[in-house]
Order: sequence, then C-alpha cells, then structure tokens
Amino acid sequence: MSKLFKISSIFDLDAFPKGAVTNAEASLVQDSFGRPYAIPVIVVRGSKPGPVLGVTAAVHGNELNGIKVIHKLVQGIDPEQLSGAIVAVPVFNVPGFIRHQREFSDGNDLNRIMPGKETGTEAQQYAHAILNKIVAQFTYLIDLHTASFGRINSLYIRADLADPKTRKLAELQNAEILLHNCGTDGTLRSAAARFGIPALTVEVGNPQLFQESMIQRSVTGILNVMAHLEMIEREISVESEPNICSKSYWIYTNAGGILEMSVALRAIVEEGQEIARVTDCYGTLVKTYHAPEKGIVIGRSTNPVNASGARILHLGVLGENFSSCPI
Ligand SMILES: [Zn+2]
Repeated sequence: MSKLFKISSIFDLDAFPKGAVTNAEASLVQDSFGRPYAIPVIVVRGSKPGPVLGVTAAVHGNELNGIKVIHKLVQGIDPEQLSGAIVAVPVFNVPGFIRHQREFSDGNDLNRIMPGKETGTEAQQYAHAILNKIVAQFTYLIDLHTASFGRINSLYIRADLADPKTRKLAELQNAEILLHNCGTDGTLRSAAARFGIPALTVEVGNPQLFQESMIQRSVTGILNVMAHLEMIEREISVESEPNICSKSYWIYTNAGGILEMSVALRAIVEEGQEIARVTDCYGTLVKTYHAPEKGIVIGRSTNPVNASGARILHLGVLGENFSSCPI
C-alpha cells in the first residue's frame, strides 16, 4: 500500500498536490489504547480552482452503499480536468463500521449528537473533531446514508427544499423522492448548514450491502451536481422527475405478532388503503393497518417479527407546502 498522507489537525487543501488523487488518514481522536481512530479521507484536488465538494458515507457504520458511491465517483474523475476538489470521507464512523453497527462504539448515534463537543463524551469529541477540522472546510456537503436493519429505503433526499441553492442540488441527485426536512435533531447536515454549507442527506437504499443500480444512480447524481457547480464539464442527466414531499412520518404498530406488508416501496397509497396486517403465531389475523392519509411509501419494514410499537412504513406527504428551516 502506498504511503498515506496524514491529517492531524485542521484539513488544509493547499497541503495536497494539484491535479492528483491523494489518500489520507485523519488522526483526530484516540481510542482507549491511546491509538488514533484512522479516519480515511480521499482528496481529489483539481488543477484549477473551484468549490470543495464534501462527500461523507457510513456516518452510520452499517450504511455501506455510500462507500461504493465514493469509490466509483473518485475513480471516474480526472483530477487534471477538475475545478475545485472532492474531499470524501468514505467511512465516517470507523468503530461502527468495524462492528457492523449503526452507532459509534459507545452506543451513541453520531447523526443525533452533532455538532458534538470538544470536551464531551468519546462520540461527542469524535463528531466535533471531524465536523470542525474537516467538514467545516467544505463548500457543499453530500452525506450518504441508507435505511437501518430490518427496513428498506427508496433512493430519496432529505434536505431544506425551501432553500433554493440546496433544492437545486437535491433536484440534480437523480432521486426517486425529495423530502423537505430540516434535520434539526443533531444531524451532520444541520451542523453543516449552520456553517453556511448547503447540505443534502442522500438515502441510498438498504443497509450492510452494495446495491449496484442505486450506487450508479447516486454517482450520476453527484456528477450532475459537479457539472452544475462547473467543477467538471458534463451533460446533466436526470432519469425521472422525483416526487416532492412536504413532510413525512413513520407509522407504527400497536399490536405485537407477525407483520406482513401490503404495499411496496414507492407505492402511492390512498387514505384508508390497507398497508399491513399483523397475525398471531397461529396465523390468526390480529389487526389490519390503513394509511391515515394519501402519501408515498418512502421506506418500509422488511422484518416480520413485530413487537407492539415496531415500524410499518415511512409515509411521505406529497406536496410543496413547506417553509424555510430555522438556522
Ligand atoms: Zn443513516
């Protein structure tokens, strides 16, 4: 393996060679052996000036499609022809990735505790260090996620669609659904937005696997964004008009048993339409669930083992009735 460039403090693009791809390792926080977590960073610095597009993946350690999106993206770019830079963090949550788990090693969800804390818990210090030393240097951020275990997702975007700049980036993503969402619950996206960085969360399918067609669609989406930002010369290609949702929510069961879904991903359901059934272990119907209003199935359960309170589906309410997110 070639020697890795070391990042031990604030990321400095000028330290990287122009017209080249450089693999780096950020050592910002130490584990209990006193060893730094080796956070991988790929820097594609163009030969010409331009914006710094940050792309992060596996903030949740079991959400892997984004890693392959980054590899394909980087391998398809000629840095000699690039204006600006791509700074990619393919595995943001290093200990979670190693453990095949969503959370950080101490059980915290890194995408709920942003912006972290310099003198806080291990996860808070880790979040704070990457956010302030690396992400803060980006001009734009695309944060790649997937569904969690036991669930599947469409290819959809969570973003502040009331912000015209962010909305344009979202529209170029080649996604099936665009969901207006402020991400105020400690997400990396909202923390980046507070630095003035337009940011998207891209939900790329399902956990702990590689889905080639979704990966390719996402790569095309990021290339579209780069063409729009004049980082590369390329024809913008959007496969289909996305459905726009003004809000969304999960529908949960209130009876335990065996869950069987009645609707597919991306289905448009009408108010009152059956969406799922719960039976007991003898096969007797316990309860039928119906859509409370018209909407689109953004994500859904794939796990038949259903305690009372399990998730059924993530319903997107179609429409453009939304207002600006608070900063
Ligand atoms: Zn995630």
